[in-house]
Amino acid sequence: MNTKLISLLTAAASASTQLLHAHLIGNGPHDHGAMKYDFSVRPPAGVLLAQAARPASPASPAPVAANNSSNSAKAAPFQAFAPKVRTRADANFLYVESDGMPAHNMMVGITAWQQQVPLPQPYTGNNAWRIPLNPMPSKNPVSIKGRFLRGAIALAANGIPIFNPQNNRGEVAQEIGELDQWGGHCGRADDYHYHATPFHLQSVVGKGLPVAYALDGYPIYGLTEPDGSSPTKLDVFNGHELPGLGYHYHGSTKYPYVNGGFHGEVVERDGQVDPQPRAQPMREAGAPLRGARITGFTSKESKSYSLKYEVSGETRHANYTLNDDKSVKFDFVDGRGQVKSETFTPRPRGPGGGQKGKGGQKKGERK
Ligand SMILES: [Zn+2]
Ligand SMILES: [Zn+2]
Repeated sequence: MNTKLISLLTAAASASTQLLHAHLIGNGPHDHGAMKYDFSVRPPAGVLLAQAARPASPASPAPVAANNSSNSAKAAPFQAFAPKVRTRADANFLYVESDGMPAHNMMVGITAWQQQVPLPQPYTGNNAWRIPLNPMPSKNPVSIKGRFLRGAIALAANGIPIFNPQNNRGEVAQEIGELDQWGGHCGRADDYHYHATPFHLQSVVGKGLPVAYALDGYPIYGLTEPDGSSPTKLDVFNGHELPGLGYHYHGSTKYPYVNGGFHGEVVERDGQVDPQPRAQPMREAGAPLRGARITGFTSKESKSYSLKYEVSGETRHANYTLNDDKSVKFDFVDGRGQVKSETFTPRPRGPGGGQKGKGGQKKGERK
């Protein structure tokens, strides 16, 4: 780690702290890469509560809440985002619940867009994230290169999943304009996720805590150790063992950006870590919109969102509103102000339905 990079990042981190208080939203391409926090973009609390109230499936009963010191240490980074992010534990796992909507702004800076937008996700109850409380080193540690291209490989402290730095076609998302200024974008189910370590969370969790956990249960720290020193002797997965800290990974500003593999045991099934929560698709997956550049994203009352983008020399908007009945109404506004409206309702989530789902039911209404 060179010292120039560290001083840059330190400067960025303190800038981030100032912005945190200033409630600014970055809207221009010139702020690309700046680290910001915008707590004015709030998640739809009503939706989160409604989903939390859903009855648990009898097949896998909700784990018993427990509170011992080992799980509370592991829960600490997530608790920095309470009450939006909630944790509980049993003997083996820390369960993390979120609605998949970060408190920071999103989408701005994306230049390779598949026309997906951030929608709340039901990562609650039996569909919560789970982090092993007692990670076990694997006898055969596996790299993530060209593997685990579906689903998450880690979970950020703010309850947002982190996917492989490679997208599902094997391209490095960060290097082809797919990611916003916060390292994230939305998947086929309009599920927001990162493809890189969200270093900007460090200013929220504090210096000494990891910003994420890999799904094998080992923590992912930022660019420095808890004492501020630079990590040394990192293995091929960007991890190492330190006295007192045990095995842990570090995020990086170039490939692999996150944990480069799993030091610990994970189960791989259908190209992803298994089991893991499913996202809830509402509509057909979008197609790449060539030449589009997302320049703004705003939220009103945590219920309506407006995504602004430039394409073919005009400014367009995708405006959408979360309704109380869980449907979502979209107004697609083209450069001449013509509006095309569509309303989507969540499709039932059958076994394995979420990620493979072809999209929701549509109540078409065009004008
Ligand atoms: Zn992705
Ligand atoms: Zn370290």
